[in-house]
Amino acid sequence: IQTKLPKVGTTIFTVMSQLAQEHGAVNLGQGFPDFPVPPRLVEELERAMRAGHNQYAPMTGVPALRQAIAAKTARVYGHAPDADTEVTVTSGATEAIFNAIHAVVRAGDEVVVLDPCYDCYEPAIDLAGARAVHVPLDPVTFAPDWQRVREAIGPRTRMLMINSPHNPSGAMLSADDMRELAAILDGTGIFLVSDEVYEHIVFDGARHESVLRHPALRERAFVVSSFGKTYHCTGWKIGYCIAPPALGTEFRKVHQYNVFSTFTPGQHAFAAMLEAEPEHYEQLGAFYQAKRDRFRDQLATTRLAPLPVPGGYFQLVDYSAVSDLDDAAFCRWLTVEKGVAAIPLSPFYETPPAGQRLARLCFAKNEATLDAAIERLQRL
Ligand code: PMP
Ligand code: GLN
Repeated sequence: IQTKLPKVGTTIFTVMSQLAQEHGAVNLGQGFPDFPVPPRLVEELERAMRAGHNQYAPMTGVPALRQAIAAKTARVYGHAPDADTEVTVTSGATEAIFNAIHAVVRAGDEVVVLDPCYDCYEPAIDLAGARAVHVPLDPVTFAPDWQRVREAIGPRTRMLMINSPHNPSGAMLSADDMRELAAILDGTGIFLVSDEVYEHIVFDGARHESVLRHPALRERAFVVSSFGKTYHCTGWKIGYCIAPPALGTEFRKVHQYNVFSTFTPGQHAFAAMLEAEPEHYEQLGAFYQAKRDRFRDQLATTRLAPLPVPGGYFQLVDYSAVSDLDDAAFCRWLTVEKGVAAIPLSPFYETPPAGQRLARLCFAKNEATLDAAIERLQRL
């Protein structure tokens, strides 16, 4: 058959997890926590199932959850979206990103993405018959060069996609970045997707610059988040999108015929959690910062050089002191021969920077897992 996605194979996350399993490697590749969810979340899920919340949820999401998301957003970002028209619950952030693109991007349009970028963006753009225009982030700081973004925008540009805290680098956009972005988009009809799945995993007292804090940006934006990241349950696949009513209407048209609605008992469980334990998301940054700091100290005993991690749960390491292999070959070798699975950065790029020697390690892991990985990495 004539394939619609000629560039797409199996994702690097699946490939590396399979390789890790085959070779008994410690899996710091694919991003997922290996520790339990908050106990109360399981209780709330069970309660919801026993209470009979097992049939289709309303298409847009369980009202209690949409209201809890709106209340949390108001509390954290000082902007209260309308729970009925502006909040839609989705089957993970991946579905939300797909819907946002398909809601507004037409055949022949262009979508500006900043490389390295998360792997689900471009296939969704391609399926819409549009084209991704890749603008590289700084190879060292992973900060955007707004002049290059400006130059990448043309008459066909329909959307721009940002991600902060950033996967794979952990870099965060600043308030100045948001002002630059607002100036670039001012007076254009360009929509924004803001992938904020790591919104609560920020370190060193920094503030997450949600697009929801910025009126000029949020009026054109689909802001996406994921409970998978915030509640250590990537397998539940529940997320949401916040968008102004006119955008929300179009978004919901896609959602309605994509999945129609999302896992009902999980929605009830998150509604209860958001209300009952706000300290969970408030303390998530400190929780992960302790893991980041411990892991970084341990890496100092290896020949891998850690890059700064402002947010998220990934540590980039420069392995040039260990090997001159390209990153895909290095990560394969590390998994098969050295027993630690990592993710290469090249799959996140249209054109990876020449000679880049970086690998991504996930530190959303128990101490025992990280200790086992470090013991192996010390032998490099
Ligand atoms: N965006 C980014 C930047 C991510 O890291 C992830 C999770 N891997 C997603 C989106 C997808 O989130 P979900 O698992 O909720 O679909
Ligand atoms: N978001 C996860 C990561 O970056 C992977 C999710 C997936 O496997 N699709 O590792």
